[in-house]
Amino acid sequence: MTDASNAGPPPPDVVPGGIRDIATGVFVIPDNRVPLVPNIGIVVGKDAALVVDTGMGPANGRKILDAAKRVAGSRRLILTVTHFHPEHGFGAQVFKGAARIFYNRAQREELTAKGEGYLGMFRGFGPGVAAALEGTTIVMPDEVYDGASTEIDLGGRKVELRTWGLAHTAGDQVVWLPAERILFTGDLAEERIFPIFPWFPPNDADLDAARWAEILTELDGWHPQIVVPGHGSIGGPEILRAVRDYMMELGRRVAAERKAGKDADKIVAELAPRIRAEHPDWDAPEWIDFAIRYYASLG
Ligand SMILES: [Zn+2]
Repeated sequence: MTDASNAGPPPPDVVPGGIRDIATGVFVIPDNRVPLVPNIGIVVGKDAALVVDTGMGPANGRKILDAAKRVAGSRRLILTVTHFHPEHGFGAQVFKGAARIFYNRAQREELTAKGEGYLGMFRGFGPGVAAALEGTTIVMPDEVYDGASTEIDLGGRKVELRTWGLAHTAGDQVVWLPAERILFTGDLAEERIFPIFPWFPPNDADLDAARWAEILTELDGWHPQIVVPGHGSIGGPEILRAVRDYMMELGRRVAAERKAGKDADKIVAELAPRIRAEHPDWDAPEWIDFAIRYYASLG
């Protein structure tokens, strides 16, 4: 969010008219680099279509459901989300009854524990965001899976859902199309956007950046052809490496400053402007401070 005015970020409106196919039957509604709008996926098989993320609030969710119905026709719909954060999953209420809502168990637990708190926090992000969230109710999935992964057969098309537990959130999940080598990362990876470190202690301190970086290395090892990041432009595995390298380098630099006896405030004051300058074409620099404070908390 580069807008420093009191009006907050622009309305986080999804634009379904921007839908495009990245492979046969695999659609993305791009975020257009608008803050708090995610890249949304719709994967269509012979029998069913999987929607990946909803956008924020019921009006956005409605637009995504309508877009999914347009490309899915009479196929049954399944909804999953990449993590519980509002811009990814807080449009799920309109899918209730229209789609089978399917998450991993940790996502449901995290949504139960933190959903209302995040709703309140995001309503404070300015009138555009508050308007998008008007009428939002938090709904639980119809079904969850246990363990690290599960497979969905959409009819002639297999999709894998994979989670690792605590990383960027407690229940991050990627969506992987093994035949097409297409990867939807959620906010484990964003493209030319400073990684979102949701480091809000004491309300939310569920973050493990070392694990997160390991996951990005693992995902790179899957050799994806197309990477759809949580936010930003679609690309290839270089997106994963850029995020990982940023995090590991920042972690090293903060650790060195801590070792030199500096506290978090001093490190933020000195290091954040340098980090910003080193990535002149990256958006959302407000996340640099959160990342520094997270790494400073490690000791
Ligand atoms: Zn996001």
